Amino acid sequence: MADDKNKCKNPSCTCPAQPGGKYCSASCEGSGDTIELDCDCGHDECGGNF
Ligand SMILES: [Zn+2]
Ligand SMILES: [Zn+2]
Repeated sequence: MADDKNKCKNPSCTCPAQPGGKYCSASCEGSGDTIELDCDCGHDECGGNF
């Protein structure tokens, strides 16, 4: 959990959140409370983007 404060709140996303925000992208923010297995943020480094 120690490394979680600056990570995107989308559980399937491994990207860092935007400064001052909880998500890395509008795509993740739009997912809201929905738990998705894959992330659609489009970042190449995202571990949840299949
Ligand atoms: Zn992502
Ligand atoms: Zn994200």
